[in-house]
Amino acid sequence: MKKFKTESKKLLDLMINSIYTNREIFLRELISNASDAVDKLYFKSLTDSDVSLAKDELAIHVSFDKDARTVTVSDSGIGMTKDEMDKNLGTIAHSGSLEFKSENVEAQGDDVDIIGQFGVGFYSSFMVAKEVRVVSRAFGSDEAWEWKSDGIEGYTISETTREGHGTDVILTLKDNTDEDDYDAYLSEWGLKNLIKKYSNYVRYPITMECSKTRQKPKPEDAGDDYKPEYEHYTETETINSMVPIWKRSKQDVTQEEYNEFYKSDFHDFSDPARTIKVHAEGAMTYDALMFIPSRAPFDLYSKDYKKGLALYSSNVLIMEKCEELLPDYFNFVRGVVDSQDLQLNISRETLQHNSQLRAIAKKLEKKIKGELANMRDNDREAYEKFFENFGRGLKYGIYMSYGMNKGELADLLLFYSAKEQKMVTLDEYVDAMPEGQDSIFYAAGDSVERLAKMPVVKAVMNKGYDVLLCTQDVDEFCFQAMMGYGKPAAEGEEFSEKQLKNVASGDLGLESEDEKKAAEEAAKESEDLFGAMKEALGEQVTKVSVSTRLTSADDAPACITAEGPLSLEMEKILSQMPD
Ligand code: ADP
Ligand code: MG
Repeated sequence: MKKFKTESKKLLDLMINSIYTNREIFLRELISNASDAVDKLYFKSLTDSDVSLAKDELAIHVSFDKDARTVTVSDSGIGMTKDEMDKNLGTIAHSGSLEFKSENVEAQGDDVDIIGQFGVGFYSSFMVAKEVRVVSRAFGSDEAWEWKSDGIEGYTISETTREGHGTDVILTLKDNTDEDDYDAYLSEWGLKNLIKKYSNYVRYPITMECSKTRQKPKPEDAGDDYKPEYEHYTETETINSMVPIWKRSKQDVTQEEYNEFYKSDFHDFSDPARTIKVHAEGAMTYDALMFIPSRAPFDLYSKDYKKGLALYSSNVLIMEKCEELLPDYFNFVRGVVDSQDLQLNISRETLQHNSQLRAIAKKLEKKIKGELANMRDNDREAYEKFFENFGRGLKYGIYMSYGMNKGELADLLLFYSAKEQKMVTLDEYVDAMPEGQDSIFYAAGDSVERLAKMPVVKAVMNKGYDVLLCTQDVDEFCFQAMMGYGKPAAEGEEFSEKQLKNVASGDLGLESEDEKKAAEEAAKESEDLFGAMKEALGEQVTKVSVSTRLTSADDAPACITAEGPLSLEMEKILSQMPD
């Protein structure tokens, strides 16, 4: 027996027990190695005219034996010589694949898409296996060798036989214990699930023998009392779908196909409202496919909801939900990002350089925003539905960033216009403002109907100004964070920002000189009355005064307004919040 080359057994222990957080990824690693081995052979066939390959030679096969507790991953790839086994499997953190990549770096081009690079993936087998055997025959050799190890002390290599070139990795799974159960890996559905989850887009077919049931043909002499009989049989099935839909160019994919992919991969039963496809080349090459759902997932506003896009590197799933790829206010977006340029951490479960991710995230955010703006401008009905589902999150986005995001997001907001009696954007509100109006007016409360009846709303409307009726608790906080709203100035124009004013608070500055004078006089006349009222109301009010907002057209003799930045509505919400 040979001891592991890297003397320290601690290192192996670390590999097996600390690097990976999720032991089911062992299958991903073995399949990735098999795919690399097939890739290397394929590459050889491209560069070496002596090598000709039949297409069906390029396959990966997964099987299991419940009684023997074995799981086997076989490939018809390039295989390993005895020396290569010794070097590549006997040395932890030695990657034959990385070597291959650097040796072929010039000729490589796009043809070789090797997944491996760290030389540790293979050892993840020992998370689930008490023994690992590797039977391999190198392409062009007629010798086959078996490498065997329990993952603790070392390994043995002995001569064996194998039909044809390629490699079988045979894991004997650990025994089940009270805490750990390995039976899922000894079942058709368990293995199928893992292949679909992590290796669905590996570019060679991954096959399995799958059990099936069929009705036996009806015998010709069957009588009237014939009951159909069934038989079991097995059939070789390709489990992975291979070509990732996000890598196909948009022209080649129908919306139907995108919809099906969305529904099956993101577990929604409705078609997405929008599909966004991105292909980027240059400093970072990546593909992204994103979806705006047509309805909010039931847990969107719960604490348990996790935002993020699935992250793939070279067609292999790295992370199901990579949070860094989406800002909070676009947390409803589902989708996939695939880049072979990402620098992955050794476990592949974390990333080394977040700056790469941040750069991608920024681009994607722009794309999402663009798509939403497009929907807002060209399909208002769909956009209103979108906004009903997800608008609240956009407003929070502005509020949570203290208004820093307002430029990005304010254009995407919709509010109910009292005048138009429909949802409008701030832009549309500003465009419709009559001469002389220099602020955007809004009122906040529980219902549009009730707000529309408020005397202060009516008073502003009577001046010919529109009022936005805001019924979500976040609305006013969002406006407070924004302070003002302005469209980016067109060329030659000066940028002017309109103040956002709550009709129920502060001084709106709408009264004419005459009205002001009249109010002052009325105040003087009623000084005693107001003094008595203030005394009667005590702490409940800060001041009783004459208002210029209530006109004779109003049926209300008095109104309550707030002083200072907080409106009554906001104070109500704040006082309801837990400390
Ligand atoms: P990595 O894939 O990052 O290189 P691994 O630990 O997964 O590291 O594998 C170590 C090396 O063992 C690979 O680089 C490759 O040279 C060799 N190897 C593993 N599996 C196979 C296989 N199925 N066929 C041929 N070579 C393999
Ligand atoms: Mg590997």
